[in-house]
Amino acid sequence: MGKNFELSTNLKKYFGFENFKGNQEPVIQNILSGNDTFVLMPTGGGKSLCYQLPSLMLEGTAIVISPLIALMKNQVDAMRNFGEDDGVAHFLNSSLSKSATLKVKEDVLEGRTKLLYVAPESLTKESNIEFLKQVKISFYAVDEAHCISEWGHDFRPEYRKIRSIVNEIGSAPIIALTATATPKVQHDIQKNLGMLDALVFKSSFNRPNLYYEVLPKVNATKEIIKFIRANPGKSGIIYCLSRKKVEELAETLQVNGIKAVPYHAGMDSSTRSGNQDKFLMEDVDVVVATIAFGMGIDKPDVRFVIHYDIPKSLEGYYQETGRAGRDGGEGRCLTFYSYKDIQKLEKFMQGKPVAEQEIGRQLLLETVSFAESAICRRTILLHYFGENYIDANCGNCDNCLHPKKEFQGEEFVIKALKLVKLVKERFKIDHLVNILTGEMNSSIKSYKHDELEMFGCGKDRDQHFWNMVFRRALVHSLIEKDIEQYGVIKLKPEGRKFLKNPVPFMLTDDHDFEGVDLEATKA
Ligand code: ADP
Ligand code: ZN
Repeated sequence: MGKNFELSTNLKKYFGFENFKGNQEPVIQNILSGNDTFVLMPTGGGKSLCYQLPSLMLEGTAIVISPLIALMKNQVDAMRNFGEDDGVAHFLNSSLSKSATLKVKEDVLEGRTKLLYVAPESLTKESNIEFLKQVKISFYAVDEAHCISEWGHDFRPEYRKIRSIVNEIGSAPIIALTATATPKVQHDIQKNLGMLDALVFKSSFNRPNLYYEVLPKVNATKEIIKFIRANPGKSGIIYCLSRKKVEELAETLQVNGIKAVPYHAGMDSSTRSGNQDKFLMEDVDVVVATIAFGMGIDKPDVRFVIHYDIPKSLEGYYQETGRAGRDGGEGRCLTFYSYKDIQKLEKFMQGKPVAEQEIGRQLLLETVSFAESAICRRTILLHYFGENYIDANCGNCDNCLHPKKEFQGEEFVIKALKLVKLVKERFKIDHLVNILTGEMNSSIKSYKHDELEMFGCGKDRDQHFWNMVFRRALVHSLIEKDIEQYGVIKLKPEGRKFLKNPVPFMLTDDHDFEGVDLEATKA
């Protein structure tokens, strides 16, 4: 009997499922073959099964490194449901008593435990390392692997020690899993875990049923009330940046007869979980929340997600909007944007370590670029996740439904690419734009770029325009952002080809959010 047959039988036997989801089967086969494996799958894609099933089939114990204690307990309970043996899955973390810890270690050493969940803090403890050295390990699974990267949305320094601890305990294949798929984060993870050769399984992050729209932040509160009234009885989440705004907006909605509750980490825990339950049980329609709301919440029929404030990163935007339409039905994602909010976010970052500020600034730039662009929202979002999705009118975003007029832009793209080459692919977009528009500043001066023949060669257009040209070139894979020095623009093979052999290239002006009268937002 072939392996495939055995896999399906075990899928049914242990989990009661008839078919594998997405990449699960090839992923599991790769693990069973003893290779390093990298799994990029959106939330809800079925990542846990990718390590749970092979752990039951292989000799020894699989070590699962996972950051959340609460999540660990759920997973262990779920695993015990289908194992004949209570000891089939255990967790090891700081919440266990001494005697419970002893029982876990006994089960593991007796070979009854197929899966051992370990918090990264516990993994770094010398006594646990000594213990694990005695264990036959089938493989290591690093869950939420984006925690390794400072470019991910949940950086945890202990995650960076995993590789050296694995070496100390004893090497075995590694499987890394995450729902964060930006090429930068992916590269960081593979490099840090020493698995650049791993086989990578990447699912599409496209959510065709989600509608994306960015609106100028004018009279946002009024607009939100209007929208909710036009969608009576539908469930939705509204994200705000600050706790204060959360409370304010929830109150305004209530005053306007909308069933809404606030949710943020500053509330006492019983009110907070009470509000969450009201939303899940549909006693209220709307929850107004900070980003503290949503992790692990599985309400399938959320019909809209509104960002009252622009998120700090596109990653956050994707995760938060992703909570809409999980049942495959309608999911409207509206974002209110004004450039002033970006400046506010930049101000918040001051005082943080310089490296962190630089990362924050780059992530923010990506968000600005998304908000202001007249290109298909889905195209930009998926491009950010390293997916190629062009030529298509997605039919489900504001820019595709109301396209702006296009014009022939070949000459501008040529200028932009020529400049990238001229300065030896060592500069970021804002610097390149400054050269084209002839903007003098200290950086231009120190590189003597004002002496370049191209300095000011595009000054008949403004900075906004040239930013747009670079974004277009990025989305069309003519240029790319360097993986190691993020933000530095390099030519891609397609870009070199374009320079040698230019072809017609259509452009559209970006949206102009600067002309917006922001005082009106006080509604
Ligand atoms: P992720 O960790 O990627 O967010 P989970 O591992 O929590 O996803 O799985 C999401 C849901 O899909 C769970 O309810 C799980 O039971 C279910 N699931 C996983 N694999 C399958 C499958 N092969 N068939 C049906 N349901 C599955
Ligand atoms: Zn679109």
